[in-house]
Amino acid sequence: MQKQKNLSNHSDKQILESVARSTQNGFVAYNNNYEITYFSKKMQEVTGWSEEEILGQDVRELYAVKSSSGLANNKEVESQIAILFTKVGKQISLETKITSILNDDNKQEGFLVFFVIEDYKKNLDQAQSEFVSTVSHELRTPITSIKGFASTLLGQGDRLDIEKRKKYTKIIKEQAERLSRLVEDLLSVSRMENKKMQLTMHPVRIEPILETIAEVVKSKHEKAKHKININCDSNLPEVWVDSDRLEQILTNLIDNAVKYSPGAEKVDVVVRTTLRNDEEMLRVNITDYGIGIKKEDLRKIFTKFSRLDSPLTRVTEGTGLGLYISFSLAKLLHGDLNAKSEAGKTTFSLYLPTKEYSGDETWWD
Ligand code: ADP
Repeated sequence: MQKQKNLSNHSDKQILESVARSTQNGFVAYNNNYEITYFSKKMQEVTGWSEEEILGQDVRELYAVKSSSGLANNKEVESQIAILFTKVGKQISLETKITSILNDDNKQEGFLVFFVIEDYKKNLDQAQSEFVSTVSHELRTPITSIKGFASTLLGQGDRLDIEKRKKYTKIIKEQAERLSRLVEDLLSVSRMENKKMQLTMHPVRIEPILETIAEVVKSKHEKAKHKININCDSNLPEVWVDSDRLEQILTNLIDNAVKYSPGAEKVDVVVRTTLRNDEEMLRVNITDYGIGIKKEDLRKIFTKFSRLDSPLTRVTEGTGLGLYISFSLAKLLHGDLNAKSEAGKTTFSLYLPTKEYSGDETWWD
């Protein structure tokens, strides 16, 4: 009688494919160097990335975990809510379960991540209610402060010396400004997500826009010593964008570069033409010499309300929405935005089309 094959004769991939076929959920495996080694069919459907495109890529570019514990490094199964980035830049909030892959000697060879796609709809509702609760919390902080200081001024104003009165009034003004920035950012998010953002695409020269923004950012941070160096290739082509939205992205990036490098003396802005996926594009690199960003946070910063925990961020004003908006706008303009960071040097690269876009509108669908 022919001997039955035992399970260990099957390749790991065959087994994984069978498991993956039997469920509506997605699987991704990666090795200890964070390189993706397996990407199930369901993941390809949901993200739009093909196997060829994604195998070998850094998994930290594919998704970001919202909790601060980072990726699992023990043998247990860990559940986390992750934000998955699709090929067109859409962000999907999903529950993940992550576990180690062990070799025959029980040594960790990598990780397997299970993405719960079945409950995707339920997650949408959950993400929505989390958003509402985060917004309420963010609004409450400045409101509490405004109410408190206004009450003090009303109740004890005539007993306070002029310095104190000035100080409290200044706090009220700053908190009101914070509220109005938050509301502006929320309106941008809502317009983008509801596809209500009006875009007027036309050819634009980027040099004068950069010069103006550099002045605006410098005047906003009077105490900062930064010199904003703008270095553009001669004969740069125009970019096909909505100029208001481009300004919004660049202002946020240059403002962040100054905000998150308090001791530094310069920010470098370098604009070059480059080929990206066989298309000519303009690449704007904005480099600061500040606190830097850890590799595992490089995707997280582009998700809603993500502010990295650092002593500087805690004392720096911000809504945590700027990069989410900038990333989404870059995609809407048919460009892209990514970040790299290493020991005290962070570069955001913004890619912009130099020709009118003629493809399908796939974003947010
Ligand atoms: P915020 O309003 O907090 O600045 P952003 O969405 O613009 O929000 O940025 C999200 C987070 O990313 C910031 O809170 C900060 O922790 C981090 N970050 C952004 N830009 C930089 C940078 N140039 N260097 C270091 N960290 C940065």
